[in-house]
Amino acid sequence: MTSQRYERVEKIGEGTYGTVFKAKDRETGDIVALKIVRLDEDDEGVPSAALREICISEGIETSEHCQVTVRLLDVLHRSLRLTMVFEYCDQDLKKYFDSLASVISQKTVQSFYYQLLRGLAYCHRHNIFHRDLKPQNILISKKGELKLADFGLARAFGIPVRIYSAEVVTLWYRPPEVLMGAQVYTTSIDIWSAGCIFAEMANSGRPLFPGSDVDEQLKRIFKLVGTPTDRTWPNIVRLPEYKEFPPYPPAPFSAVVPPLSPTGIDLLRRHLVSYPKGRITAEDAMRHEYFSDLDDPIARPSN
Ligand code: ADP
Ligand code: MG
Repeated sequence: MTSQRYERVEKIGEGTYGTVFKAKDRETGDIVALKIVRLDEDDEGVPSAALREICISEGIETSEHCQVTVRLLDVLHRSLRLTMVFEYCDQDLKKYFDSLASVISQKTVQSFYYQLLRGLAYCHRHNIFHRDLKPQNILISKKGELKLADFGLARAFGIPVRIYSAEVVTLWYRPPEVLMGAQVYTTSIDIWSAGCIFAEMANSGRPLFPGSDVDEQLKRIFKLVGTPTDRTWPNIVRLPEYKEFPPYPPAPFSAVVPPLSPTGIDLLRRHLVSYPKGRITAEDAMRHEYFSDLDDPIARPSN
């Protein structure tokens, strides 16, 4: 049986939907990551077509894909357990921040953020959006390569997974339209989250908007970017959970992210636009002047 193939070494993570183990592939000797997801008992039988789809979609891998998202190597399915086997990465961005002994260099921020944008641009080009971008879902390899993880593949394919509540679902990276109940999701959701992560990187791991509930989250956001109005955000009042806030004026970004250069601040500002359609795209962000002196070979486009 295939489960014999992977020898668990240790538990490395607990996410919203599953437990992740470091394991050894007995056939190849490689170290891998096993993500075990428990399926919902109410729905017996995972549609095998969906499973095939996961394998197939992961099968059409371009070299670019391997670079930007964590590779899915195998999928095992037994009764209520779905195991996804991924290439192993050393740590996630949250753990990286927690382990920092001093402040992060702004050159590292530039390289990491470029790689994050490259991953997003790739996904957005293929009409995939992440919807849950946060430091825990961004992995870093030994070589300093940054890869996107946790696309909630199972969720994306409609497999009934059980919420595994060890990880608190965080509001910190959610854009205002999602916080106000918008149901229409577009790539601009990820751009908002990415902007929050960009600022957090530049501040050596200090989150930009660490709100504790939806109202407080929105308040923190509007105190920085200014409260939107029907003029800056047409039809905002029609959002399902629209709430009125005091008319906060926009505050200077440089005060919240002091280590970031003026071009970095300009790029950040183009992400953190309340009106979803006003946000920059990942492609355009990669061409921004902030990256004009990018010299990290890892971060250079391969073609
Ligand atoms: P969930 O959907 O449950 O949030 P994730 O895929 O985000 O699951 O994994 C949970 C955690 O496990 C991550 O935050 C990360 O710390 C760790 N992890 C996940 N995949 C890998 C991997 N391929 N290599 C190393 N660590 C990983
Ligand atoms: Mg996760």
